[in-house]
Amino acid sequence: MGRHTNASWPSSQGGSRPDIEYASETLRVTHRYEALLEKEIRGSPYEFKTMFTAEGWGAHQRLLRRFKLLKAIDPRLIRMLRPDERVHFITHGTLVSAVDDFFTSWAAHFLDLRAMVFTSERVFLIQINTRSEPRDLVTQIAYSAVVAVVSSTDGSCRLALRDGRKLHFRHMPRPDHKFLLDFLSNAVKRAGADGDKAATAEEKLCPKCFKVVKGFPAHCPECNALLTRPFVAGFRTFLFPGLGNWYLGNRGFAAGEMLFTTLLWLFLVILPLIRLFLEGGPPPTRAYWIGTASVLAFVYVGVAVVTHHIARKGLHAAAP
Ligand SMILES: [Zn+2]
Repeated sequence: MGRHTNASWPSSQGGSRPDIEYASETLRVTHRYEALLEKEIRGSPYEFKTMFTAEGWGAHQRLLRRFKLLKAIDPRLIRMLRPDERVHFITHGTLVSAVDDFFTSWAAHFLDLRAMVFTSERVFLIQINTRSEPRDLVTQIAYSAVVAVVSSTDGSCRLALRDGRKLHFRHMPRPDHKFLLDFLSNAVKRAGADGDKAATAEEKLCPKCFKVVKGFPAHCPECNALLTRPFVAGFRTFLFPGLGNWYLGNRGFAAGEMLFTTLLWLFLVILPLIRLFLEGGPPPTRAYWIGTASVLAFVYVGVAVVTHHIARKGLHAAAP
């Protein structure tokens, strides 16, 4: 992928664009995380010492994974950062809300893996796949939008936002918890002391230009990128489960849904009809067809509601 230039980057402020791109290129050609601790990289927005210091069992493996994640998200991240914004820590986990707990926890594991990037100003939540590669969904939470940070007994970390929403970070590497709680609590306290109450909620960023976008417009108001809309995702799923997630770019998951739906039709409808017409078997009872119709309706409506919910988590670039 070629280097992006960002015309809106103010060159008069610190952390100039050429420097940050030089630092990004240096990171790209670095093959050991240990090398990042040995000498300073000019223009780098990352606090490598905080990121790549860990102790205890499995520390090396954890840092290797973090290094891989950082390299994978860096090309996007440098376009999202403001001049002088520092990145203190990154980790990964799943992000679930109270609603997710109820009915989409099965999907969250596949679709809601996030890189969590803790900067001097905010937390970025960047959707990643199981190979740590970044995907479309990007949201941010300004520290000023957080009212409380709580660690739960189940090992998850909860954020309560000013707009009343509660977010759970789950499946984070255990040793990262303490650092995060301390870091977050301090950052939130500082933001509160600054009296900056501008942000109250998790904000969605355009997957192309990374500007904050309100609501679910068909196009990004900033860069005109075509965006997916939750209603369309839900409606397509209702036509055939899987079409909605395909539209959202969750192709592997969509293929699984399509296969499942095809098998449902095959076993519940097509095979009984084949037996009836080709083999002259006894016709299925009226109760059988009512049961079958209920199962299909339940699946179609249920999956459409879940897909609509998934689509509302953020902005996905739509295929033209
Ligand atoms: Zn945009």
